[in-house]
Amino acid sequence: MKISKLGEFGLINMLKQFVPVSKTVIKGIGDDAAVVPYSKSEYLLITTDMLAEDTHFTRRMPPQGIGHKALACSISDIAAMGGWPTFAVVSIGIPKNLPVSFIKDIYKGIQEVARQFNVSIVGGDTIKTDKIVINVALLGLVEKKNLTTRDGAKAGDVIFVTGPLGGSFKSGRHLSFTPRGPQARFLVENFKPSAMMDISDGLSGDLNHILKASKVGARLDHAYIPRHQGVSLSQALNDGEDFELLFTLSPQKARLLMDWQTQKRAFYFYPIGTITSDVKEKIDTKSFTHF
Ligand SMILES: [Mg+2]
Repeated sequence: MKISKLGEFGLINMLKQFVPVSKTVIKGIGDDAAVVPYSKSEYLLITTDMLAEDTHFTRRMPPQGIGHKALACSISDIAAMGGWPTFAVVSIGIPKNLPVSFIKDIYKGIQEVARQFNVSIVGGDTIKTDKIVINVALLGLVEKKNLTTRDGAKAGDVIFVTGPLGGSFKSGRHLSFTPRGPQARFLVENFKPSAMMDISDGLSGDLNHILKASKVGARLDHAYIPRHQGVSLSQALNDGEDFELLFTLSPQKARLLMDWQTQKRAFYFYPIGTITSDVKEKIDTKSFTHF
């Protein structure tokens, strides 16, 4: 069988069988980041992302944006667990004909977002490749009480997103987005989301991950899904690369959040649907698949 037939999640499930996991691991494969023991009050978060030329970016795109994205999408995953990023290693595969300035600019992009989010780059590796490949492995921390995973959504919970969706790739937003770290911290400290993840593959597909992990269904109110200008509903549902947070709140907390944001605030959160007990209520997907 070819990898393309297996699909990304089929592949991950197959590989899972060969991955040893000790009992001390809090969360392994299957959330935005892995969760492992750290201290009495905190967990260590680990996530990694790989970007490849002609799959995730092309040489005609601004190299600084490519670097920005390489680190920002990992910061987004740490935020989705309720935590904050700390240390990263960056590895890069470089074709020998590539202008030095291109790599320099990729690192400038990485540096800028690292500074903004207080991430120290503490190592990495470089190899010669046919196409540019960038891999970021990022650590983060989260208080045990603030850890937010995908499996806690309950029937009746309200589904929210942190911002408008769709058209990210076409508009170039996928190279300049700001990870929703401050929003995630605000939410876990004040509203305790029952489940949270970031939208990388598209709202419809990603929401299904929460539904599956939480063993619930959902109904979306299409009219309430915030979209970027000129973006269709289908694009908002399926485009992906938005890196907005998708989270669920109990009806009581949802009401408190809606009350809070009746006044002008630093953040705005969009209610877009409801969690149901019917596991057959899945979201229709034509979500981005990697293979
Ligand atoms: Mg994610």
